[in-house]
Amino acid sequence: MSEVYFIGADIGGTTVKLAIIKENGEIIYKWEIHTNTDNQGKSIPEDIHKSIEETLAAQEITKEKIAGIGAGAPGFVDTNTGFIYEAVNIGWKDFDFGNQLQELSGLPVWVDNDANLAALGENWLGAGHGSQELIAVTLGTGVGGGIISNGQILNGANGTAAEIGHVTVIREGGAPCNCGKTGCLETEASATGIVRKAKAIAEEYPESSLKSLVSSDTLTAKDVFEMASNGDEASQAVLNDVMDTLGMAIANLAIAINPEKIVIGGGVSQAGEQLLKPLQEAFKKYALRRTASASSFQIAQLGNDAGVIGGAYLVKNNQK
Ligand SMILES: [Zn+2]
Repeated sequence: MSEVYFIGADIGGTTVKLAIIKENGEIIYKWEIHTNTDNQGKSIPEDIHKSIEETLAAQEITKEKIAGIGAGAPGFVDTNTGFIYEAVNIGWKDFDFGNQLQELSGLPVWVDNDANLAALGENWLGAGHGSQELIAVTLGTGVGGGIISNGQILNGANGTAAEIGHVTVIREGGAPCNCGKTGCLETEASATGIVRKAKAIAEEYPESSLKSLVSSDTLTAKDVFEMASNGDEASQAVLNDVMDTLGMAIANLAIAINPEKIVIGGGVSQAGEQLLKPLQEAFKKYALRRTASASSFQIAQLGNDAGVIGGAYLVKNNQK
């Protein structure tokens, strides 16, 4: 029997990550192209199509071997049609992405939200280990999320299920969020949120390493983790505060789906145990004891490949 391949495409605000992937999930070739957001991102389907054609030719893989393309976009997606309601970072609004790419490529195309694809990828080949019930949270410049329930990714009535970053965690006086609300989880627990929180808390610790770095105006979330691990009390206070909020938000979601696995990914998750320990403590504090006893926290394992692997899974799962 001849081998079949999948193409995964993970569309971000600056690059589109692409990969040719075997049925067992092994990446045989991966590459990136620039995301051209000029002209409301209209050229992106064509850019992706051309790049796939060129790469398949260079890799000497015929199109007949490709079962389809699974693509992730950072926005609200109609997964039945691949229609993008809105993807702010790309410039898409009411954009018929899935059909365009399907027409250009002549291949079946499935589209989902990028954080949902990352959750599917992690659940297939990463930290999820094929869980039926899973919450995935991506902590980067924003906060993304994906929820798998009864083995299926949740999309919701109009593509906003599992938008974990926009769970309200500060009722009044929270920072404004890109979504138009204030006090979203994303404003508190993203890398940007950690820095903002650090600036506020540093004022209470005039002698701390945190305070001196805040004054120099070069502070990053990574610095906060580093200083905390070197014993800086102020930085530890920032992390405790942020993880308390994140733990509460995840515990509230956990009441809804009773997860077996909670997978934390994204750049901030590189802090590993230093992040997991206070997060798990907070989670236990806010979750039902029985809910907490069923769930274990894991750091994501696939890194930047989670999206393209999730794309391949989408094809694998939907192909005829
Ligand atoms: Zn928001």
